[in-house]
Amino acid sequence: MPELLNCPRCNKIFVKAFREVCNNCHQQEEDDFQKVYHYVRKKDNRRATIHEVEEATGVEKEFIYKFIKQGRISLHSFPNLAYPCESCGTMIREGRICSDCRGNITDGLERLDIEKTFAERNKREENSKITTYHSVNNRFDRNR
Ligand SMILES: [Zn+2]
Ligand SMILES: [Zn+2]
Repeated sequence: MPELLNCPRCNKIFVKAFREVCNNCHQQEEDDFQKVYHYVRKKDNRRATIHEVEEATGVEKEFIYKFIKQGRISLHSFPNLAYPCESCGTMIREGRICSDCRGNITDGLERLDIEKTFAERNKREENSKITTYHSVNNRFDRNR
């Protein structure tokens, strides 16, 4: 039994296959992506903001955000592009929520601290390994 869905973009009923939007809208999205991509990859536009991209391409920023989140537009190359935190709307450049919202999640901060402690301990262990290695070597040299 094919599953029927309302397309979230145009509200038409379509058969759910591999996509979350209908074929028409999928095509439209691809066109939009090409427009955005062609615009930002020009050297002069590398520093464009979301607003400028929206103005220049006529593609709604919601879709530009989507392309960024899908990883189709990599923020490494575009220092002024960002997308909103899913929780509070602050513009962010990585993850799904901003660091403030991450902090508000129960034990979010605690977990981060634990991770930091682990990383530091590992580093210390690495260092002590190096020291041990050297002292073993020295002893070996002395014995010779
Ligand atoms: Zn549609
Ligand atoms: Zn937030």
